[in-house]
Amino acid sequence: MRKIPTAAVLLTATALLASCAKNPEKEAQAYVDTYTREVQKLSLEVSEAEWASNTHIVEGDTTNAHRSKAAKEAYAVFTGNAENIATARKFLEKRDKLSPLLVRQLELILYEAGSNPQTVADIVKRRIKVETEQVEKLYGFDFKLDGKSVSTNDIDELLRSDLHLDKRLAAWEESKEVGKNLKDGLAEMQTLRNQTVQALGYKDYFDYQVSDYGMTSAELRDQMKTVLRDIWPLYRELHTWARYELAQRYGQKEVPDMIPAHWLPNRWGQDWSPLVTVAGLDLDSKLKEKQPEWLVKQAESFYVSLGFDSLPQTFWDKSDLYPVPEGANYKKNNHASAWHFDLDKDVRSLMSVIPNADWYETTHHELGHIYYYMSYSTPEVPILLRRGANRAFHEAIGSMMGLAAMQQPFIEGIGLFPEGQQTDQIQTLLKESLNYIIFLPWSAGVMTEFEYSLYAENLPKDQYNAKWWELVQKYQGIVPPSPRGEEYCDAATKTHINDDAAQYYDYAISYVLLMQLHDHIARNVLHQDPHATNYYGSKEVGTFLKPILAAGGTRDWRELTREATGADLSAQPMLRYFEPLTAYLQQQNQGRTYTLPENPAF
Ligand SMILES: [Zn+2]
Repeated sequence: MRKIPTAAVLLTATALLASCAKNPEKEAQAYVDTYTREVQKLSLEVSEAEWASNTHIVEGDTTNAHRSKAAKEAYAVFTGNAENIATARKFLEKRDKLSPLLVRQLELILYEAGSNPQTVADIVKRRIKVETEQVEKLYGFDFKLDGKSVSTNDIDELLRSDLHLDKRLAAWEESKEVGKNLKDGLAEMQTLRNQTVQALGYKDYFDYQVSDYGMTSAELRDQMKTVLRDIWPLYRELHTWARYELAQRYGQKEVPDMIPAHWLPNRWGQDWSPLVTVAGLDLDSKLKEKQPEWLVKQAESFYVSLGFDSLPQTFWDKSDLYPVPEGANYKKNNHASAWHFDLDKDVRSLMSVIPNADWYETTHHELGHIYYYMSYSTPEVPILLRRGANRAFHEAIGSMMGLAAMQQPFIEGIGLFPEGQQTDQIQTLLKESLNYIIFLPWSAGVMTEFEYSLYAENLPKDQYNAKWWELVQKYQGIVPPSPRGEEYCDAATKTHINDDAAQYYDYAISYVLLMQLHDHIARNVLHQDPHATNYYGSKEVGTFLKPILAAGGTRDWRELTREATGADLSAQPMLRYFEPLTAYLQQQNQGRTYTLPENPAF
């Protein structure tokens, strides 16, 4: 059905195999080179098609969507081809005779094949069908409040601000209704995803996703639990603080032991930061005077001040950086992203920059991705390894640069700080911790452990919801408002469970990593307080960052982290960052009952 012109390439690869059987390194290199050329071409077409789909949206015109689908299919058919799988596996059997760089590339070829192995074409076809239907059911669900259709944005807004517990309960319960429709699909995907990657020799789908980190599932889970044990004392303080704070907010005399899920300002309790409002600095008023172009140029000048090159002219020519002009007959995706078009010099960004604080931070974040791309697009890094050191690294770097650009001395240094403004450091830290710290038990605990159980332990379908709430209580200290039977499937209400499976720990790792790198830069490179740094103009920061970025995916990420920061991945720097808050919370919580165990049960 999906015949596309990759046959010639495959034939060439096979012919090479037959002709030189003596030198495994040379033989494998020749195969990887051929594979690379084809993949570069196919992924360029995917990028071109996707770019058009995102930058030029005309209602009713499906040309771009078709082109995009065709390009993705061509890519999938090639990378998942039986011939490629067999060849990569054959070479990997002789891995001790190959250079580490070649082994990494062959492993990547196999990993890429895992999304779509044509060796089990029927299973793949069925999986894609179920996945597509599942996403349609999830996004197409008609949520209703008081008999009226509402969006998930409406539900979120209500949970962030409404003080009536009955309304909150109704909204929260409605947000979980969609799960009922998703349970059968999830059970099918559980089986099909496992079967797909087992055909390639992975133990299960979780094992497959973790393999991208060069780790076993056990190692990854251990690492996540170490992070969670480290932050547990602070989490316990925040949990206690929130129970009392929320009981008061909703006028409840009794403070519950565990937090009822519908009390929190998020459907999954993954972000509690809306609980605190900080009268922060008003960057917007300063930025209003600027042109949008100024923001992008300013972000570039930051990277140049660290010793990086200017952005190439093609970036300016080909990027799509500003909102669609008024009256245009097309729309664009306004969500910011950074693109590595040809896995070489063609880098672009899609943004809709207007002069405000959000976009100021976003320009610094997105250019972080762009400079990462540029740093590893060198002859030293094979094209297949032009990627982050792991799936979490790219986001960690971008977010760190965004965070750096928001710190007061940085803002003052570039003349943006509104005169006479004061910020409350403790309230700022509290709000930040309700995002950073609160997110970890959810991501590294609940999501990671649930998906591990789902795929590696074949969690039975009639235990999905029981398992889910067992984990939510254990890691987050949150309980459902009333018992949730197996007619529900509350896990499946989270998008990623359906369409981005078994890699949610990426987000946890990226948070931890960004704090670890920032803390190291602040203390050991700049010798500044991590709460008040100014990276701008520091060639030392540039010198520190360059080798990390330039390595791309050629090195083991754990080795790279250790080399850069002198430590393994660790939440200790994040804890140090929030240290001033711990004393404040302990004082606030004096005389209050703690209901989470001092020593966590994991
Ligand atoms: Zn990003």
